[in-house]
Amino acid sequence: MPPLTKTTDTRRERGDLFVVSAPSGAGKTTLCRRLLSRLEGVEFSVSYTTRAPRKGEVEGVDYHFVSETRFEEMVEAGRFLEWARVHGNFYGTGRDEVIASLEQGIDILLDIDVQGARKVRKLFPGAVFIFILPPSWKELEARLKGRGSEDQERVRLRLANARSELGSVHEYKYAVVNADLYRATEELEAIVLAQRCKISRVLSRPGLLKALRPPLP
Ligand code: ADP
Ligand code: 5GP
Repeated sequence: MPPLTKTTDTRRERGDLFVVSAPSGAGKTTLCRRLLSRLEGVEFSVSYTTRAPRKGEVEGVDYHFVSETRFEEMVEAGRFLEWARVHGNFYGTGRDEVIASLEQGIDILLDIDVQGARKVRKLFPGAVFIFILPPSWKELEARLKGRGSEDQERVRLRLANARSELGSVHEYKYAVVNADLYRATEELEAIVLAQRCKISRVLSRPGLLKALRPPLP
């Protein structure tokens, strides 16, 4: 970090990458939506998936829904920052969109699974890794079934995967227990705000160091 007396100020504030993972049904989508509606300067990275849209899901908002052939073409063309097979479908994060936004100083929220998070950790060791925990196994099961978006067999697969996903919580820096939705939203927001207050990020705000220089005697 340059000293406070640096005369030329060519630095740019870059956005941070926030990676949020959780077992299916923990409330990650609900929490991410709430965070995005409360905070300025943070955008959701809309993933590509081969999964069929759920009722109410909108193309380009919740996901880019693509065929397996198209997904494979995108893999071949190097269009993904990371991609993984999750619960029997393919999911991937678009590379160019994410990098362009970070360079413009926009924070990016990635809602990706634990395999994807591992890949992102290698590429962006400075990213912020957050795991959303349900308050109990019983509640996770009730939420997943209550959402009514998957048939019995898919619910079973997601619950089976949840066992191993929960075992990956230690790989993350932060955990938010989503018992009370309001409290969990505040905790998630607090993590983003704390990251924005890191010395390195604050001092990279254009013009700040110059503005802090005392006048010549
Ligand atoms: P995920 O994206 O992690 O799979 P969702 O956000 O779709 O999970 O949430 C699963 C279900 O649980 C939804 O029906 C949602 O409305 C509900 N839900 C989310 N958070 C809470 C909470 N704190 N208390 C009760 N129900 C919740
Ligand atoms: P769902 O089908 O419930 O929307 O998502 C299933 C899982 O896929 C969730 O764990 C979600 O975080 C993950 N997921 C969504 N988008 C991506 C992505 O781009 N990459 C990876 N690796 N996982 C994703």
